[in-house]
Amino acid sequence: MRARHPVSRAETPLRVVILAGEVGFCFGVKRAITMAEDALVQDEPVYIHGDLVHNRHVTDDLESRGLQKVRSLEGRPRGSVVVRAHGLPRTEVEEAKEAGYRIIDATCPIVLRAQEAAQMMEARGCQVVIIGDAHHAEIKGIIGALRHPALVIDTVEQLRNAKATRALRRKVGVIFQTTHALELCKDIVGELVFMCKEVQIVNTICRPVQNRQDAALSVAEDVDLMLVVGSPTSANTMELTALCHAHNPWTRHIEGAEGLRDEDLCWAHTIGIASGLSTPVHLIDEVRSAILARTDEPDFSRRPPREFYELRRHDG
Ligand code: SF4
Repeated sequence: MRARHPVSRAETPLRVVILAGEVGFCFGVKRAITMAEDALVQDEPVYIHGDLVHNRHVTDDLESRGLQKVRSLEGRPRGSVVVRAHGLPRTEVEEAKEAGYRIIDATCPIVLRAQEAAQMMEARGCQVVIIGDAHHAEIKGIIGALRHPALVIDTVEQLRNAKATRALRRKVGVIFQTTHALELCKDIVGELVFMCKEVQIVNTICRPVQNRQDAALSVAEDVDLMLVVGSPTSANTMELTALCHAHNPWTRHIEGAEGLRDEDLCWAHTIGIASGLSTPVHLIDEVRSAILARTDEPDFSRRPPREFYELRRHDG
């Protein structure tokens, strides 16, 4: 039986909105934003490779205050380089340091622990297998912390292909992208243990991510419509959407209140809201207020067909 998680309810005679557990930034995102803000008050340029966190409301705000997103530091005046919450390959950090830039490392401690777990597996003679998205910033950071190439797997098909092409070794050490849903990884792990002689596993999935997933699922199962608020470039938001969809086919992902569709809301009486870990609280408040402001009676006969939802993983 699933553990119950705290929810907050708001209702009118026409609609009930249930907020799943905690919303707003996780500690890693809060920490990264604070470090970037502190750097921006210094009298020097502040650069970043990629996005500090995966929400455009947050990154637009920081860029409007002076944070400069760059692909390369070549020719740029000396200043500070902020390392994003999900890390950078070690070589990029070292190069910036050697070129005289000040490094402000906002890599989340949980991401650093995943890098250390991968290094430990490598030191034990394992081939490191990362269950995650090869294009994700965090995975690039983990690969960049290793001496040997890692195998990155995101689907059972990719795993079977690795086995068929002999890319999979007999002794492997498995870690997970911190934002993944363990439930969505179990088929890969299940096959892996039959394919290899020795499998060592460290669960590197972030606890705040798991808590959000558990809280969202306990709401998703009981509502007419489930909404997941966050950026489409946020991996944990899209993973949460996929997970909720597996338990409630009337699950939709939206970036904010502007994404609310009449055809979803006209029939729904109870509406659950969950959010990614880089979604600002004000976006969730706007969604909740817009739903509660509706004056139409829910009409269950207008329930739309189940939407096919395809999990697409993103860099975030
Ligand atoms: S989601 Fe987890 S790993 Fe990512 S920044 Fe937040 S606390 Fe850190």
